[in-house]
This record gives sequence, structure tokens and C-alpha cells, in this order.
Amino acid sequence: MSYVFPRHSKARYPVACGGQGAYLIDRDGRRYLDASGGAAVSSLGHGHPAVVSAIKAQVDRLAYAHSGFFTTEPSEALAEHLVTRAPEGLARVYFVSGGSEANETALKLARQYHLERGEEGRHHFIARQQSYHGNTLGALAVGGSVARRAPFQPLLMPASHIAPCYAYRHQAADETEEAYGLRAADALEVEIQRVGPETVAGFIAEPVVGATAGVVPPAPGYFKRIREICDRHGILLILDEVMCGMGRTGSLYACEQDGIAPDILTCAKGLGGGYQPIGAVLASQSIYDTIAEGSGAFEHGFTYIGHATACAAALAVQQTIETDDLLANVRRQGTALREALDARFGNHHHVGDIRGRGLFIGLELVAERASKEPFDPDLKINAKIKQRAMAEGLICYPGGGTADGRRGDHVLLAPPFIIGPDHIAELVDKLGRAVDGALSEAGMKV
Ligand code: PMP
Repeated sequence: MSYVFPRHSKARYPVACGGQGAYLIDRDGRRYLDASGGAAVSSLGHGHPAVVSAIKAQVDRLAYAHSGFFTTEPSEALAEHLVTRAPEGLARVYFVSGGSEANETALKLARQYHLERGEEGRHHFIARQQSYHGNTLGALAVGGSVARRAPFQPLLMPASHIAPCYAYRHQAADETEEAYGLRAADALEVEIQRVGPETVAGFIAEPVVGATAGVVPPAPGYFKRIREICDRHGILLILDEVMCGMGRTGSLYACEQDGIAPDILTCAKGLGGGYQPIGAVLASQSIYDTIAEGSGAFEHGFTYIGHATACAAALAVQQTIETDDLLANVRRQGTALREALDARFGNHHHVGDIRGRGLFIGLELVAERASKEPFDPDLKINAKIKQRAMAEGLICYPGGGTADGRRGDHVLLAPPFIIGPDHIAELVDKLGRAVDGALSEAGMKV
């Protein structure tokens, strides 16, 4: 009997009891290669001694102090670490406990910024159809999933959604990647004109889309054009790096590779690497100054802002990434993993696309490669892959909703930054068996 409210009432999960490096171990002693870090969380793997001892040392000194009374050494040190490495202009950090809280905070911060400037009319947010920004009501409102939003629609704030930048499905045959990137970005201009530029507070997007699409990097030039459009209309650009940030794509911040800086950047997951729940909102100096010199207080707050133990854990994770030069390993192993996946699945009849950046890689599955027709969702291909992968001793992150946010199947891979060639060989071997086994079970030829 379990008293824990399960994610799914019929699910029977193994009990995770241990973690060593890239592996999780259940109560029966079975080992699972954690090839998705849960949901792109465990950037350092499990049981890292430097992080464990930093947490112990912090708890011995001070576990928690309320941010309404104190700041703390670890929260100050972590904020400095993040800001001094951040894209230009990001100057202040607001710590929260996860990704949804970070995005919720970002939306409210954008709204208050406009209010302080006397632009009360700016309350509308634009986002993209293919996106996930969290499950709290504000983050859900801007998320692209119609199915997730539908039951809660009457409670959600108004937001509108443009088409994502999704070359595999939307780039025309006679179009260059660059031309497609600009065309995709121009959808934002069209939407701004439709709703009225003076009503728009912000545009929110994941630089590299994660869970809703099985890792979709932007086309070259896409975000530069997005930045220009936002600037032209005084609209804040909010980048959600909750999943793709903190080194996952091979640079500390994913947007570095697109050559732009947002006004607000959110991160979580890989920030604390799963050792503690933590998220962060990085805001530009001008947003901070506007509020500091205006009302003086951001009308917001949570009990666990800047939690000392969570900040100490995240600082240890981030320092380890730097001292062990793990971003170089992300880039190296990312290339090796892509090559191994291309070799195993490159000619696979049901793998339509293999894409990603660094150790953030997605495989999009299709009924037929030439037409890119997705599988019938009733076949539950992604659920079957998950089940078979677990039986193989592999944690990957299969999902649905790939093709245009309607339906489809993908597998998301986000292994820890510490992996090497043996892990890659094991991952690809087990994934191959899980994918082929699931497809055979669904009656497909493999
Ligand atoms: N944004 C993105 C891009 C995410 O992937 C997620 C989590 N999957 C969230 C926000 C929400 O984060 P959390 O589950 O920590 O609230």
C-alpha cells in the first residue's frame, strides 16, 4: 500500500533507493542507466561526493533562514556565480524552488516592470504552441499544450501562441535554414500587430524546446530576429532555460549559442542537479532598477526564496561543472552520442529525426519517414518505449505531442555530464532494443 498520490493511478513504480554516478538503483538492487536525468535534472549524476559534502556542511551551519529577514552566504555566492557568467545585461537573481515557480515569477516581474513604467495596458503574453513552461496557473496559461490547458481554461490568464521554430516539420523544401528561421520569427511580429503592441508585456520561449517536442533547437538567426522584434515594441523577452540551461546544451546558458541575451531568464532542473529543489530568475539591471527606483518592492515572494541548503547544493553543482571542465565533456560526448544514435537509428524506418545540442538530444518517431506521418496516438508508442526501457535498465524520457503539438512520439535523452564512451554504448544498445521492442509490440515492422 502506498499513501503517495501517484502520477498515474495504475502506475507501479520501482522504489529508488540509491544513486551512483550515471546509475539509479532500486530496492531490488536493479541498476538503471539514467539517460535522461529524470527529466533533464541530474546534470552531475547521482551521489556526487562534492555536492553531498557541501549539503552536509551547510546543514551543519544553517539549513534555512527566511529571506524577509536575512540573506545568506550560499545564496549570495550562487547569485554571483550565475550573474558573472550570464549573458550581457542579466544582473540580479531571484531564487525559487523549481521551474514553474521561476516562470510564474518571470511573468509577474514582467507585468510589474511595465506597471512601474506607467504602461498599465501591457498584460498580454505571447508564447509558442510547442512549449511547456510549468503547471502553475500562469505558467500553464503560456504553455503550448492545449490538452494540459483545457481543463483549467476558465482559471487561466489570456495568452496567445505562435507556431514554434520547428525545421523538421515547417521548413519548406526550397528554403534555407536561415530563411526559415526568419520566417518563423516573423510570426511574432504578426501576432503582436494582431493583439496590439501596446498590450503585450512579454514573449516567452524555450531556446531549445524540451519535453513537448523531443528537443528542438532553433534555426540559425531565429532568436536574433525575435530579439529585434521584442526591442522594436518594448516587449520583454523571457527565455525559459529550465530544461535546456545550466550546461545541458554545451554552454552554461543555452541562448549563448544564439548570440542573444534575454531580459529575463529562468532556470531550474540542472541548476541544483536534483540534489535540492531550486530554480532561479535572472533579470536585467534595467528591470531591477525600474522596480527599485519605482515602488521599491517586487510584489511577490515565497517562503523558500534563496533556501540556504538548496543554494549551497546548487553552488557545489555549478562549481563542479566548472572545475571538472564538464561543459567540454558535454560537447564531446554530445557529438559522440549523436554519432552513435545516427549509426543505430539513421536508417531506421520509424526514426524521422535525430536532433539536439550537447547532451540534449531527441529522436522523433514517425509511422513513415517519407511522409513524416506520426503514429496513431492510440498505439501509445512512447509509453511502450518507456516501459521497455525500464525493463532493460534504462531511463529515457519518451513523450507525446511532437508533431505540431497535436500528436506524435519522441524520446528525449539528457544523460549526466559525466558520461563516457561505455555509457553511450550501453545507452544506444538498450534504447535500440526498447524502441524496436515497442514498435514490434505495436505491430510495426522493424
Ligand atoms: N519549463 C520547462 C522548459 C520545463 O521543461 C519544465 C519542467 N519539465 C518547467 C518549466 C517546469 O518546471 P518544474 O516542473 O520544476 O516546475
